[in-house]
Amino acid sequence: MKLTKLTILGSTGSIGTQALEIVRANPGQFRVIALTGNSNWKLLAEQINEFRPEIAVLTDDANAAQFRAAIKVESTTLMFGQAELAAVAGSAGHDLVLNALVGFSGFIPTLRALEAGHKVALANKESLVVGGELLTRYVNSGHDRLIPVDSEHSAILQCLVGEPEKELEKLTITASGGPFRTWNLERMRKITVKDALNHPNWDMGAKITIDSATMMNKGLEIIEAHWFFDVAPEKIEAVVHPQSIIHSMVTFTDGSTKAQMGLPDMKLPIQYALTYPGRQYLDTPRLDWSKAQQLTFEPVDYERFPCLKLAVEALAEGGMAPAVLNASNEIAVARFLNEEISYIDIPRVVRHCLESRDSNLEVTLDNLIHSDKETRIKAKAFRA
Ligand code: NAD
Ligand code: MG
Repeated sequence: MKLTKLTILGSTGSIGTQALEIVRANPGQFRVIALTGNSNWKLLAEQINEFRPEIAVLTDDANAAQFRAAIKVESTTLMFGQAELAAVAGSAGHDLVLNALVGFSGFIPTLRALEAGHKVALANKESLVVGGELLTRYVNSGHDRLIPVDSEHSAILQCLVGEPEKELEKLTITASGGPFRTWNLERMRKITVKDALNHPNWDMGAKITIDSATMMNKGLEIIEAHWFFDVAPEKIEAVVHPQSIIHSMVTFTDGSTKAQMGLPDMKLPIQYALTYPGRQYLDTPRLDWSKAQQLTFEPVDYERFPCLKLAVEALAEGGMAPAVLNASNEIAVARFLNEEISYIDIPRVVRHCLESRDSNLEVTLDNLIHSDKETRIKAKAFRA
């Protein structure tokens, strides 16, 4: 088996640690070239001691001295800061970069890796939401330059293998509906941070868990699917499927629909992205089809989940709208987690930033950076 030289950006997070479990379970298949973390220096130091990468980046250097002291290997070059992280993404030495960063922080590293000709396994959906137009210049129709990690997009890719993509009619992205699927508007006014962090089917980082609770996550995924698969927005629909067994579906022009199924476990799409176009054994529980079970579907509810509607509208508007949606949502989620604003204020912050944005800006790297910064200031200042 060919050795894959792998870099994991965001190795201390939920996706990053699960990717390292896959590396650990397959000795001799991967060599870890670089690992990165933001503030969790203890875990990053443990990972360095175990996986002995050539390079490690800690973007937040507040605990640099303790971090250095915890590292027992001498062969790892240590770096600090965002610019170093992006430079590592674009540097030579790896065959595949797994981007498991969260938020806009992942965008420039994705761009640098693609520019340098590397393959990118992309968990950081925000990269495509903000800069899909710039990133897809480096992508080919074989999907082997930019490979999805998100379970829905991995499902779509698995459904497309061997199919003529020009005969694709519709993408159906499934959503669990999150913890508030059955709550009425009145009850939703009183949602606490604890309620929102309690996702029924998936155990994930805090930001995506809140995005799942507002269903902004599904909106971001519709935008992500548009760029990954070059499919027009009107051909992408979301549907609520509370069991999270069908991870997404593709309908073709002859009326046939393919679905990819499995128990909800991110290790499967992570491993698929690391081995694509191959597939290999994964030690994970299987669905028992001999037992009675129900797969149910419900339409999405824009009234109770306005974030989803805002995302769909931002995609239709195009240009910088998705980048403004993303930045304002990142701040709104952080403010909600800080208990500064309530759950129902999250879409209010996003709408305010979308409505007051400069809609004439062209999508360029400089404009994206500028708009991200300006939108964050506005979203922080917004009084709900
Ligand atoms: P997480 O919060 O658990 O981990 C994020 C990682 O990024 C950590 O290593 C952290 O140190 C690093 N990081 C955070 N802020 C940073 C910054 N400003 N600069 C540099 N590094 C920073 O997040 P996660 O749940 O692993 O999600 C990662 C990405 O994968 C997100 O885009 C998310 O939407 C996507 N995703 C996650 C899941 C999941 O199950 N967790 C599923 C699908 C998609
Ligand atoms: Mg997903």
